[in-house]
Amino acid sequence: MAKQAPQSDPAQDAPKVGAPQRAAAGLTAVRQSLKLAHEQMGPARTLATLAKVNQQGGFDCPGCAWPEPDKPHTAEFCENGAKAVAEEATERRITRAFFAEHSVAELAGRSGYWLGQQGRLTEPMLLAEDATHYAPIGWDEAFAIIAEELEALATPDGAAFYTSGRTSNEAAFSYQLFARKLGTNNLPDCSNMCHESSGSALVETLGVGKGSVSLKDLYQADLIIVAGQNPGTNHPRMLSALERAKRAGATIVSVNPLPEAGLERFKNPQHARGLVGGGTKLTDLFLQIRLGGDLALFRALNQLILAADGGVDRDFVAEHCHGFDEFAAEATSTDRQQVLAATGLPWEQIEQLAELVLKSKKVIVCWAMGLTQHRHSVPTIREVVNFLLLRGNVGRPGAGVCPVRGHSNVQGDRTMGIFERPAAAFLDALEREFGFEPPREHGFDAVESIRAMRDGRVKVFFAMGGNFVAATPDTEVTEAAMRQCRLTVQVSTKLNRSHLVTGRRALILPTLGRTDRDHTEAGGQFVTVEDSMGMVHSSQGRLRPPAPGILSEVAIVCRLARAVLGPADPTPWEEFATSYDTVRDRIARVVPGFADFNTRVRAPGGFALPHGPRDSRTFPTATGKANFTVNTMTAPEVPAGRLLLQTLRSHDQYNTTIYGLDDRYRGITGGRRVVLVNPLDAAELGLTEGGYVDLVSEWRDGVARRAPHFKVVHYPVARGGAAAYYPETNVLIPLDSTAEISNTPTSKAVVIRFQPDSGV
Ligand code: SF4
Repeated sequence: MAKQAPQSDPAQDAPKVGAPQRAAAGLTAVRQSLKLAHEQMGPARTLATLAKVNQQGGFDCPGCAWPEPDKPHTAEFCENGAKAVAEEATERRITRAFFAEHSVAELAGRSGYWLGQQGRLTEPMLLAEDATHYAPIGWDEAFAIIAEELEALATPDGAAFYTSGRTSNEAAFSYQLFARKLGTNNLPDCSNMCHESSGSALVETLGVGKGSVSLKDLYQADLIIVAGQNPGTNHPRMLSALERAKRAGATIVSVNPLPEAGLERFKNPQHARGLVGGGTKLTDLFLQIRLGGDLALFRALNQLILAADGGVDRDFVAEHCHGFDEFAAEATSTDRQQVLAATGLPWEQIEQLAELVLKSKKVIVCWAMGLTQHRHSVPTIREVVNFLLLRGNVGRPGAGVCPVRGHSNVQGDRTMGIFERPAAAFLDALEREFGFEPPREHGFDAVESIRAMRDGRVKVFFAMGGNFVAATPDTEVTEAAMRQCRLTVQVSTKLNRSHLVTGRRALILPTLGRTDRDHTEAGGQFVTVEDSMGMVHSSQGRLRPPAPGILSEVAIVCRLARAVLGPADPTPWEEFATSYDTVRDRIARVVPGFADFNTRVRAPGGFALPHGPRDSRTFPTATGKANFTVNTMTAPEVPAGRLLLQTLRSHDQYNTTIYGLDDRYRGITGGRRVVLVNPLDAAELGLTEGGYVDLVSEWRDGVARRAPHFKVVHYPVARGGAAAYYPETNVLIPLDSTAEISNTPTSKAVVIRFQPDSGV
């Protein structure tokens, strides 16, 4: 029998600090996975459910977007995958009695961890105007309220339709179609907060905003550079791929302000050496770079490659690239002192890496938020592309770009049209297929949506999954903006803070999760997702839904669309909701690469989407070639007596979902309000180990944003930087502090000062 939801909330966040670990996974990960799964699901359901994760005919892990190998292992999941599945497949239920007992105000005082532990939502709930408690409501009444509020808007752009990366392809395609039929491109999504910078840089330089490598490429690489990423916690099965590459002779270099256990050593629990032995050493060279120093590092590498005999693949550059001369002139004149200041690295280490590069034929660069959430992230990723183009490391087996996506279908949602700046060709195809004129004016991304809510330009906020107020920056501003709305709607599986920060009226619409069976009059339905490497595959839940009457994401969108657009709208929403094959038939005609979708996705493992740069070294860019770019070398400036904060996840967390209060690999247990500071910086700033402080961020608007009561932890972070968990520190990130071009919040570069503890 599963363990009851915790009643008491850990009022006092009391983190204990021990030594950081030097290896990831191992027997402890197996124990922890089974323990948390058992607490949520009980023994029988645990075995039945985990056996179906990432398996053919099973369901896709609702965690990250790491791909499945051709032949999945019996236990093809990691510790954090098991946690994600257990949290969704939990036997705990939230009923109307729960909402009758707990007012919104009381729930708003609860931690995100406690809210998430209460279980699955079971019926639609309404928070009426001036009400203190949510109360049950019927689906049709709920859709009628949404239709009424949308009808009352002066313009369709008075609404914003947010998407979290867990949304399936079929739901995402139907959702964007509905929003565009309504007349708006206000389709912000979680990509706006994470890999938007990657998309912007890759579309400009290679013509495709996605990674160009497959799992097979990783296994064949000579050199893998992992920059600004912590796979041990955020993409744990990547460690299996790195281990396999390493055993095939690859060299692995990690570039990170923090030493991460998962990049140092991997104890693969699928092998004896990982369970009882010392596991596999992964990183051969660790560059402990200063926060935001990656542009300077790749610029310096490019300078060294240009200077080396035979360093440049001249044939590739001549045949496939544009803009080499301008780039080379800029790179050659790079100032070494500027590089050293920006990276904080000894020049010898940079030379060492350059030698490894010059010895390697097949190089892959993997990255995540450490590169994408800075003011200069787009130029940084463009410089990474320069680095790979110089030696022809695009469109060659074992080589390429590998932005590792966060949410399990975040890439798929974008492919399905969830984008506030859609391509004209996509809108043309939509118009041809559905016979209507889609809006052409660009819509609001996540940050712009918050500004629009704050300024009263958006009055209806609809979220397909996610936890918007916790995932976004400038928490106090965002929450105040949300409260300006007339109506906020959350399509969710579990309770979170975004249900408690509401418009004048609010709706919670419970939906099926990945693990849940989805039966319609047409029989069992499956959905599809696209992983970080462009593989599209099916996912079919097997568990009885948490309660009768819970609708799938597709059904919610289709019933809403009919309620809002009316009986005259020719789109066959009812057909879509009954048979997802009919949605896929439309996707096949609108989205490039999905021809014959229904047949191909039924093949074991699904299919790979085309990728011109990878498949044929064709680059659908403005020049028709791969573009070298000239990027102004820059790095964050930190005033004296301040540090640069990066927000990050603990090991017991997935995005804003908190599975537990430990961060095992970093030696932290029982609490989350900690700030990691280099001992030398701490000494200079008078920060005593174990003492408590307030963190206050500084920004050109002069507002002192405060995050109170953080325990100081002396930790081997790169000098000048500090680290703390989000969402607790999102309050420190100014709304207007965003990356150039991509408008992604600069969650990895917040200037902070420390003030005496004001208590929680
Ligand atoms: S690596 Fe990601 S997708 Fe795979 S099991 Fe773990 S969390 Fe899930």
